[in-house]
Amino acid sequence: MKDTNDIYGNLIGGEWLQGNGSSINVNPSDTRDIVGLFACSGLDEVEQAVSGARAAFPAWAAAGPQMRYDLLDAVGTELLARKEEFGRLLAREEGKTLPEAIGETVRAGQVFKFFAGEALRVTGDTQQSVRPGIDVDVTREPVGVIALITPWNFPIAIPAWKIAPALAYGNCVVLKPAELTPGCAHVIAQLLHKHGCPPGVFNLVMGQGSVVGDALVSHPDVDAVSFTGSAATGSRIAATCGTLRRKVQLEMGGKNPMVIMNDADLPTAVQACLSGSFFSTGQRCTASSRLIVQSGIHDAFVEAISREMRALRVGDAMQADTQIGPVVDQRQLDSNLRYVELARAEASEVIGGEQLHLDQPGFYQAPGLFLGTSNNARINREEIFGPCATVIRVDDFDEALAIANDTEFGLSAGICSTSLKHASEFRRKVEAGMVMVNLPTAGVDYHVPFGGRKGSSFGPREQGRYAVEFYTVTKTTYQLA
Ligand code: ADP
Repeated sequence: MKDTNDIYGNLIGGEWLQGNGSSINVNPSDTRDIVGLFACSGLDEVEQAVSGARAAFPAWAAAGPQMRYDLLDAVGTELLARKEEFGRLLAREEGKTLPEAIGETVRAGQVFKFFAGEALRVTGDTQQSVRPGIDVDVTREPVGVIALITPWNFPIAIPAWKIAPALAYGNCVVLKPAELTPGCAHVIAQLLHKHGCPPGVFNLVMGQGSVVGDALVSHPDVDAVSFTGSAATGSRIAATCGTLRRKVQLEMGGKNPMVIMNDADLPTAVQACLSGSFFSTGQRCTASSRLIVQSGIHDAFVEAISREMRALRVGDAMQADTQIGPVVDQRQLDSNLRYVELARAEASEVIGGEQLHLDQPGFYQAPGLFLGTSNNARINREEIFGPCATVIRVDDFDEALAIANDTEFGLSAGICSTSLKHASEFRRKVEAGMVMVNLPTAGVDYHVPFGGRKGSSFGPREQGRYAVEFYTVTKTTYQLA
């Protein structure tokens, strides 16, 4: 256990280093509760971490799969074994409910174990040359030093699903976690260190995006960048990586549609939307933010979801009966409340969405539903990233599909319908990376690709065996037989 004045340090070149500055990690459920002080780094730490990673790369690239399997499997096993302890830390620093936080920790453990196995399954491709007497084969090699930049909303799962494939395929890593949630990233660093990750293979550098993140993205010795966060930051990173001809993978925002057809099963639709729109305080890039509802079911749907939404218990993430935890911080809460104000002008009716003042100081907001909205309104164009959803009324399937696709984003899209025709056509025609039929737009598996189209994502997919595309480069070799 740390003394309250101790600083959780960076892991650079196999050493725990405190650096010069620190930042305070505050519990959003109760701002009197300080989770800890974490290093807040500058350019020197970035320099040390990148050069340590570069130095470690040749040996790690040559180490072979057994060593990588053993490391990733051990980390995964310990994440699963200590899921309650790490889940409590996650709930405390990010504010999602304890069951959600434990679930996310389990997910991180599963991801490490999946990629432990993938380290053993790196395949190539041998083909006959079109020129007789020549052998051709295609092999995969690690990319090199990879910078990973992660957001606060999945503070243990997102670092896991970037670190694990990066290491499995023989790369070295510098991780820059979000300023608001360094604790979970620190846990992963501790476990990698404890289970024998060679010095420099994995580095943790905590600090501000505009300082540490920016320096990593433009560092001449970084070969690739994987980023999850806002569309604005993602665009900047894409521009820099394009100029430097650096491999880049971006996961950004969403404005995910959920279509409710007249023939939907009402309880299924209501549960899918409650979960997709409001759980995890709506702080998921896959959240259902536009509920596109056909006229015949509209009133019954709105009546049922409003009732259930109003009954959701908002409270301290650590309390057993809480269903919706706090918003992550004051800045996000202010932004959410500005959108609620905007909705009063743009929607015909606003239900909920107000700030809540509980007995303890925290960033609490009631879930909000904005009725009678037009898809052209700002509340339907911009990602809110809070516990708020809009309702757009439509007459038929074609209108629903057109509105679902009328967005700059394309991450996840859902439909609730009992019609095979509607479900099949929606699957075929919706412009999204992930499609959900009678399921919430949020909530995915870890062994299949995750990612979107249009403004939501850029570069190869994350997760599952498709992750190999980003974390390796191919080499084609010709040899005279
Ligand atoms: P959010 O608004 O949700 O915090 P950001 O895109 O700002 O989303 O943050 C996601 C991650 O990107 C965080 O780790 C953050 O520190 C980092 N980041 C922010 N600005 C930059 C930048 N200019 N360059 C690189 N990383 C950045």
